[in-house]
Amino acid sequence: MRRFNGWGDEDVEYPLKDTMKRMLRELVGEPVYTYTASKDQLLSKIDKTRIRSSVTCVTIRDIDRLYHARGQSLPDWISLRFGEVNTFPDGVAYPTDDQDLKELIDIAKDNKFCLIPYGGGTSVLGHINPISMDRPIITVSMEKMNRIVGINEQNRVAEFYAGISGPDIEKTLMSMGYTLGHFPQSFEFSTLGGWVATKSSGQQSFGYGRIDNMFMGAEVYTPKGMLKIPHVPDSAAGPDIKELVLGSEGRIGILSKISVRISKIPEKELFEAYFMPSWEVGFKVVKMLTQERYPLSLLRLSNPKETTAHLLMAGKEFIIGMLKKYLSLRGVTDQGSLLVVGYSGKSKVVNRTQREVRSLIKRFKGVPTYTLIGKAWQKNRFKAPYLRNSLWEEGYAVDTLETCVPWDKVGSTIRDIEESLESALIDEDERVYAFSHLSHFYITGPSIYTTYIYRIARDFGTTLNRWKKLKHAASKAIIRNKGTISHHHGVGLDHKEYLEAEKGEIGIGILKDMISSFDPYNIMNPGKLV
Ligand SMILES: Cc1cc2nc3c(=O)[nH]c(=O)nc-3n(C[C@H](O)[C@H](O)[C@H](O)COP(=O)(O)OP(=O)(O)OC[C@H]3O[C@@H](n4cnc5c(N)ncnc54)[C@H](O)[C@@H]3O)c2cc1C
Repeated sequence: MRRFNGWGDEDVEYPLKDTMKRMLRELVGEPVYTYTASKDQLLSKIDKTRIRSSVTCVTIRDIDRLYHARGQSLPDWISLRFGEVNTFPDGVAYPTDDQDLKELIDIAKDNKFCLIPYGGGTSVLGHINPISMDRPIITVSMEKMNRIVGINEQNRVAEFYAGISGPDIEKTLMSMGYTLGHFPQSFEFSTLGGWVATKSSGQQSFGYGRIDNMFMGAEVYTPKGMLKIPHVPDSAAGPDIKELVLGSEGRIGILSKISVRISKIPEKELFEAYFMPSWEVGFKVVKMLTQERYPLSLLRLSNPKETTAHLLMAGKEFIIGMLKKYLSLRGVTDQGSLLVVGYSGKSKVVNRTQREVRSLIKRFKGVPTYTLIGKAWQKNRFKAPYLRNSLWEEGYAVDTLETCVPWDKVGSTIRDIEESLESALIDEDERVYAFSHLSHFYITGPSIYTTYIYRIARDFGTTLNRWKKLKHAASKAIIRNKGTISHHHGVGLDHKEYLEAEKGEIGIGILKDMISSFDPYNIMNPGKLV
């Protein structure tokens, strides 16, 4: 059973190691408070529904309404944990086929209901939250539209219903010798429809590309009718309609079927970690690996603060102590940067690339740990989000943000984001711990991903207000440095006010016009994106 107020399966725990607890006490302060409202407390806040239970495939059960009321953003967590959720969908629809989708859209049009398409509910920006409005809201859970439609091995294209989750996609494709290769950290619960609607990027984007590169075609039920985008390998027939669907965040319709490019399961795949003597050297190496187009599947460079946090999270004091001694003998100090490299492909190519990367890294005085840390990284690659539960229970709130800038702006942007976060709560005498890594790479620049941790206050308002100050400070820093407000999380509610800085007035106008031409009734996920 999934947690209704946190990350993941209720039976899975990822406790904080003592080393990490000590570090947080030192850097952020002694925890002052932690509170978790019960499910019953939240259920008691649900208003009477404004719809009848007889609407196609819709349930008005309170428990369904609660489970679909919020996603995974930090403000969502704060509201759920303090029992301060004040808007719920009036009902939750569970369509099983295209006919249900069509009927739902017709009913919404006729009755002025609003529809919120819902994949796995892993949005971190308020995408699926009902906003307060005088019209009834139905959340459309795609969980029953979750299977493969077909596969064309010759064309290397598979078609799925949009509600299929990451593990189910991979299980299905693996049984036929293929992989999609899309592994966001939310893989366990997020869905193909959600990935397309938010322009998601997976951990192995270096090799497989982001979802944009895999997205080949779709059927979308819009209030204007069904939009069908057939698969062609590429096209110069004017602007690409696929681009209107990517990142549409549920505003133009409901994605029913999606075609994606698939790849053969790699003959060999492995992940290795290296400690680079400094951030600057690590930066030079990842830039080189990217611009010289090494055939890797993953690259990830942590800054020294994140490297330290990773070692403390591992918690194995003796082994870490030995590792640190070894690293310092090899010239890697506390300023070292952890570099994770993934290789996937034909054995011959993987072996050759691995040799070349190792010798490059050796030239830059990096220290290999071979697959020791790489294997641990692989084992825990989808488990880290469970730490959010343990951090909250310990008294700390954690959030992440991401942007993308050209190579020549990376250093200054990271500095500005981290310093803005670390000074955002000075007026309250509160400390914030922020650290970053680079994780998706392009010839012209990488994406920056920053994590920050602060203390939960005694009350809802102060805890939420701290998040608002932090989010605003970091977003301003991103805009100052001309980064994008999001590289892969999207816009939703929380990035909306910063979007115009990136798109400009004309750009925002075009987006609004595009949405209203698909949805002149304003029934699709109103209030999100623009
Ligand atoms: C712990 C954690 C780790 C994460 N890691 C990553 C990461 O590595 N990379 C990354 O890109 N993101 C990541 N995310 C963000 C999130 O997982 C992605 O945005 C994901 O794509 C959302 O998918 P979902 O199925 O959960 O969609 P939801 O959260 O349910 O919905 C997101 C948006 O998509 C729309 N939508 C969903 N399904 C459909 C559909 N069928 N038709 C039309 N619109 C639809 C919704 O209306 C909403 O606007 C992470 C989130 C968490 C909590």
